[in-house]
Amino acid sequence: MDTPFKNLYDALPASVQSLAVTGYSILLDRKRYGGEYEKVKRFLQESQWYSEQQLIEYQNKMLTQLIQYSYEHVEYYRNLMRNYKLKPSDIKTTDDLQKLPVLTKELIKEKFNSLLSDEFKFNKVEKGHTSGTTGSPLEICYSKNLVNFNYAMLDRQYSWAGVNLGKFGDRVAVIRGNIIVPLNKLKPPFWRYNYYHNQLLLSSFHLKPDNIPHYLDELRRFSPKTLDGYPSTVYILAKYLKNIGEKLKLDTVLTSSETLYDFQRETIEESFDCKVYDYYGSAERVLFTTECDHHAGGHIGMEYGITEICDSGGGKLEFGETGAIVATSLHNYAMPLIRYKTNDMSAIKNDQCACGRAHYLLHDVTTKAEDTLVLKDGRLISPSVLTHPFKPLTSILESQIVQKDLSGITVKLRVDATFTDDDKNALVRGLSERLGKDTSINIQTVDELERTSTGKFKWVISEIDLNI
Ligand SMILES: [Zn+2]
Repeated sequence: MDTPFKNLYDALPASVQSLAVTGYSILLDRKRYGGEYEKVKRFLQESQWYSEQQLIEYQNKMLTQLIQYSYEHVEYYRNLMRNYKLKPSDIKTTDDLQKLPVLTKELIKEKFNSLLSDEFKFNKVEKGHTSGTTGSPLEICYSKNLVNFNYAMLDRQYSWAGVNLGKFGDRVAVIRGNIIVPLNKLKPPFWRYNYYHNQLLLSSFHLKPDNIPHYLDELRRFSPKTLDGYPSTVYILAKYLKNIGEKLKLDTVLTSSETLYDFQRETIEESFDCKVYDYYGSAERVLFTTECDHHAGGHIGMEYGITEICDSGGGKLEFGETGAIVATSLHNYAMPLIRYKTNDMSAIKNDQCACGRAHYLLHDVTTKAEDTLVLKDGRLISPSVLTHPFKPLTSILESQIVQKDLSGITVKLRVDATFTDDDKNALVRGLSERLGKDTSINIQTVDELERTSTGKFKWVISEIDLNI
């Protein structure tokens, strides 16, 4: 939210804020559920029962179209294919993709303009930002129909969990990254309503042991069918319930955007007395996995994109082998991402799911393994909500948040030559909006970031114990 709007919003009474949230949701609704949404939704309901052969045929058909289009309208691919002495007709199947090299994040930054289709104007396309696993922001563009496709995929995930999403849908509680309750509010309500979609929106920024009973009371009162949030945030509520020896019965819990650890799944399922459905939609819109009621892994949305597991050189690995996720969106004509190498690791399972759907199953995705921050006033902050202020700042190459004590955090940055004081101030402002004025934010530019003793990178390192 822009600062003037935020100040205005913050000054409103909670009931009016809920009306503002509802009004904003109505605006978003047109974009998300307009256009091709209904058509894609119907298609995905039908294609969920496609055989493996039918899914691959569909992928090959869409890939052939995408390659032809990219050759004609996207300078980067035209040059690439010429350099590789390839014609569009050389790439007709998912196996043929191997003839092209992978597209890295660095290449997207470097060749940004030449990756845009000449048929789309930069100011007319949708923009997405990813902070990636190393906190290095990347901007990508995508066509409007992909917004519809994305929400149709989400709708299919909800339908697998037995929840009806949308305007006339079931009651849903959401606890994600939006700042819907001003940080200086010390008393409940720590939530607002989106009346249009029947949603209770809970703040992820007021979670502290003193406040959690209020959250639980409101969840009991609102009585949603499902709770949808980041694993780390839902886990905070579940762990609290477990510690006081209580349960809060829900039909399902949906989680996404972070690695869901087994210990989190167990506690969440125990405390909310239901099954967890974990879905994964990459910010680059190249991969969407959803979990069915057999909970055997994430079914890859094979209609959404083509997913390969590759070695470091981009060579495709066999099923069962772990490597980097390389994915191709089949529906982004504004900025085709073909063989985009994500920073995430996983493997495709050998087994078919007993539910009867032929969509391949992805093992757990290894992404961010971060710590939760603890603030002076006791609030617990999920790492996912801290990614937002980094997203517009493309001058940041890598970042890391370190917390040694309750007084504040140190943000270590590796930056490029375009990094300015304005960028630094914007980052401090964005983090302060989420952490509050009592948390000092110290920005350091460094040449290298800290790794764990096993060489793993952690984006958020907190040395403080979670007191829940
Ligand atoms: Zn299944």
